[in-house]
Amino acid sequence: MATHVFHRSLKSKLPLAVRGDGPYIIDENGKRYLDASGGAAVSCLGHSNEAVRAAIHAQVDQLAYAHTGFFSSKPAEDLADFLIARAPGNMEAAYFVSGGSEAVETALKMARQYFLEIGQPERKHFIARGQSYHGNTLGALSVGGNQWRKKQFAPLLVEQGRVSPCYPYRDQKAQESEEEYATRLADELENEINRLGAENIIGFVAETVSGATLGAQTGVKTYFQKIRDICDHYDILLILDEVMCGMGRTGSLFAYEQEGIVPDIVTIAKGLGGGYQPIGAALVSDKIYRAFQQGSGVFMNGHTYLGHPIACAAALAVQKEIEKHNLIDNVQKMGDLLDKKLHEAFDNHPHVGDIRGRGLFRAVEFVEDKKTKTPFDPAFSLNTKLKKTAMDLGMICYPNGGTIDGRLGDHVLLAPPFIADEALIDEIVSRLTRALNRVTGRE
Ligand code: PMP
Repeated sequence: MATHVFHRSLKSKLPLAVRGDGPYIIDENGKRYLDASGGAAVSCLGHSNEAVRAAIHAQVDQLAYAHTGFFSSKPAEDLADFLIARAPGNMEAAYFVSGGSEAVETALKMARQYFLEIGQPERKHFIARGQSYHGNTLGALSVGGNQWRKKQFAPLLVEQGRVSPCYPYRDQKAQESEEEYATRLADELENEINRLGAENIIGFVAETVSGATLGAQTGVKTYFQKIRDICDHYDILLILDEVMCGMGRTGSLFAYEQEGIVPDIVTIAKGLGGGYQPIGAALVSDKIYRAFQQGSGVFMNGHTYLGHPIACAAALAVQKEIEKHNLIDNVQKMGDLLDKKLHEAFDNHPHVGDIRGRGLFRAVEFVEDKKTKTPFDPAFSLNTKLKKTAMDLGMICYPNGGTIDGRLGDHVLLAPPFIADEALIDEIVSRLTRALNRVTGRE
């Protein structure tokens, strides 16, 4: 009997990736793929960084694993120090897990237990946004608002309070200013808090810059400040999910830095380890950490691979490389360039409706009809076709959309490595243009 890897899709045969080389992945036939999305915004340093490889080797030689029920480890302590020293606001502690979904689960459970620690056991609801993605485990799916990913598992999920995401391309009204739109969204949150009863709510969960569902969607000006004020007013926690947009991706180490606010908990993952090791984290504020410290002293959670020494050593090496080479400055510079080149290439394209994003986190939304913003028929599967065509042309980009909530158009997410230069940005835009034209029959 044949054996199989249980792949994401069992209907298509995937090429075998055998080697990484900077911004490229090379398959078994020697074909090179420009990794224009870092997989799913993961590979922030590219694929073969020497310093990171050396740090991993050194840690394997020193200590591969020590269970966190018995020990802490130097890499975990050092990584916590590094991150907390750079996190604006009053972050005090880092809880290290193996990926984004685990980081979100941690944040949800920590937030719930925080209210138990301070004697408010009636707090039981989260409020989160539509068309959001927070991970594939059941708790993360429950707060997530991507119906396409949720619907098969609906009987296993706990429904949460729900408000609209920030999505000006489709949701800001013609006569509405940015400020009025931000106020309308903030009012919606306030109404939802009042509907559920503020005393029953644990927190509001949102991606600082939406990734896997809305595609590099930033909040409109003052949106997050209004959200922070409301959370403070009603005494509920603000949990920002920066699994995809954090760690320099949008041009600052934490995406929330650019919003002028500080969350109570922030989750990070993908760019933290840059793909060199599976790692995620929840960073928590002093208020929460101290409630645990002065309360039960035990967070009722745990995984075998918490604070894994090799994963923490790899992540620390990734972050030190980024800092040493001023790569976040390069994210800003190359991000501006990518935005400019995307506008040059696509502003007049009949099937491009919106170009959005920040730093090296950009998305292009496609439409069948530009004037009416009508998305392509989901049956056309633009996103699947674009992914395949781009791969044929030797490029990895991250397509999304089609049927999400029955309204979102297809888009492609670009998240090139922070080491990108001008030539790489040109190559990405030119290959994307060719792929889109081929799929929409314009080539
Ligand atoms: N939160 C966000 C914002 C994400 O983008 C993702 C992954 N796309 C997750 C959580 C889940 O992370 P992981 O796939 O590592 O479990």
